[in-house]
Amino acid sequence: MKTLKMFDPHIHMTSRTTDDYQAMADAGIAAIVEPAFWVGQPRTHVGTFEDYFLSLIGWERFRASQFGIKHFCTMALNPKEANLPGVSDGVLELLPKYLEKDGVVAVGEIGYDDMTEAEDRVFRRQIELAIGAHLPILIHTPHRDKKRGTERTIAVVREMGAAPEMVLIDHNTEETLPLTLDSGCWAGHSIYPATKMDEARMVELVKRYGSERMIINSAADWGVSDPLKVPKTVAMMRAAGISELSIETIVWTNPAAFFGQSGRLDGIDAPSLIDQRKLWEGNSVLRGQTPVVQG
Ligand SMILES: [Zn+2]
Repeated sequence: MKTLKMFDPHIHMTSRTTDDYQAMADAGIAAIVEPAFWVGQPRTHVGTFEDYFLSLIGWERFRASQFGIKHFCTMALNPKEANLPGVSDGVLELLPKYLEKDGVVAVGEIGYDDMTEAEDRVFRRQIELAIGAHLPILIHTPHRDKKRGTERTIAVVREMGAAPEMVLIDHNTEETLPLTLDSGCWAGHSIYPATKMDEARMVELVKRYGSERMIINSAADWGVSDPLKVPKTVAMMRAAGISELSIETIVWTNPAAFFGQSGRLDGIDAPSLIDQRKLWEGNSVLRGQTPVVQG
């Protein structure tokens, strides 16, 4: 059997280690999307967002390349920090410049956290920015009151005139998936240890709904999470007798097609080259080891 190439289209590598990158590469993960999100505590200056955005298209992209993983990202003001009056407008002003950068394949993650008025305003503004920039949209759905949050999300997407094929609604559950699929949007599922969605429940959803517009991710970050949830779910789908074609559709073809609508998934199908002799602004991931050169 040929090795299946996998895509983890939602993972926050900034908070993960080089061991994670190595384990992901060894498990077959060849491409990732890192959505801009919050960092666990509220930021107090617009400038810290700018440095974060720069690291997503700079250092983090380089770090992934050193393990043979193609790194893309999405840019946005996340729903939680949309509620910070001192910074949210400044970040919105900054965004258009970053939406033009190489490697930026969507506006996201945007949407609702607590469903406040400020979140609503920032959500709508960023949908406008995405439409203007001809970029796909990655939408986070709230952890609390998820069904109502998803219904409201879909209503806003429609009102704003975003094309459903340009929208990925993430963090679906059994309760929200039928709504998302009916809307014509793509459906993301974050596979977590112990909560929200797990491998076994995901297998049941694929059996019931098939692979069309279905996407899975690890959403791994600085919290309790697992960067290998995509390959682990693949293993469980195989064991459950789901076809290789369906599996490949979910973990490669679909995310590549969705984010490919940005026109910026450069070289996604090309073999990965690793050259650890390279530096990024004079910095390396190595600590004196012999550089790996491969491919
Ligand atoms: Zn996330």
